[in-house]
Amino acid sequence: MNQLLRNYDVYLPCPCGSGKKGKFCCWISSGKWHKKKSHFLLPARPAENAVDRCYLKSTLDCGGNISREHYISEGVLKQLNENNVLQADGLLWIDGTANLPTSAFTSKILCEKHNSLLSMFDDTAIKFFKLLTEFENAFKDPHAVPKSEVYLFAGEDIERWMLKTLIGFVVSGNTSKDRQPLPKTIDESWIPILLGQKDFEDRVGLHYKITKDKKIVYENSFAFLPYSSEKDGNVKAAQFSLKGWDFEFMMIPTLGLDPNVIYRPRSIILRNSIMEKIIELSWDDPKYESVLIFDRVGQTAQ
Ligand SMILES: [Zn+2]
Ligand SMILES: [Zn+2]
Repeated sequence: MNQLLRNYDVYLPCPCGSGKKGKFCCWISSGKWHKKKSHFLLPARPAENAVDRCYLKSTLDCGGNISREHYISEGVLKQLNENNVLQADGLLWIDGTANLPTSAFTSKILCEKHNSLLSMFDDTAIKFFKLLTEFENAFKDPHAVPKSEVYLFAGEDIERWMLKTLIGFVVSGNTSKDRQPLPKTIDESWIPILLGQKDFEDRVGLHYKITKDKKIVYENSFAFLPYSSEKDGNVKAAQFSLKGWDFEFMMIPTLGLDPNVIYRPRSIILRNSIMEKIIELSWDDPKYESVLIFDRVGQTAQ
């Protein structure tokens, strides 16, 4: 765990942003912090209702009508879209890169009840990407007052946002390979994982891809690149690139160890010689403790 978090004053507001004091929130014991993953209050007995186009209809707990869902969170897109230009690629209906409005990324794939249930993942992802953007901006701004800070997220919630986004792209028919549409089929075993009833297997879920000597991308770009299985053509993984942050999300275990692909990082550290900006991802299984360090220039010591 990072020193900044280890030494964090437990009587200050919790670094997870709950508003509670750390001691009564994510602080575990001396120097140890853990943000619990979100839990849904699922009914003991389902509503016995399945809305036809809802991808959670197998739960028999649908409610309301089918609704228009942003299969990539609107709030995340809006951050990319600050200059009203959103660049996207990796989508069936785009040849190369296109500038698009956020409304282009909607589809009727969830009932109203399930849409609102899953929106907590969008809130978490919005916070997460907003912080990354603020951090980058602080390193670019020569007048910013140097300030080290740390924030804490439940890694599993970021991971489940990626699962939700992957499912959304697949079931809405927006994934393609060589300009051909891929099947709209998802593995039903993903549903209990999304709902938190089952855990991701080891080596399944969130990865970070390190590109050596990569120039920071400040463009408002977004790319979603699906990977499909050779066997049945179904999508099993995707690369999410947001403003140059390259996450890989896999629903099949990664084999072998590519030293440039980090599974479930514990700390994401942006730093220069005078400050550190840190996002800690806590995981239920404490064995995940890789640290990603990004050295930033643009602000130097006085
Ligand atoms: Zn907390
Ligand atoms: Zn539903």
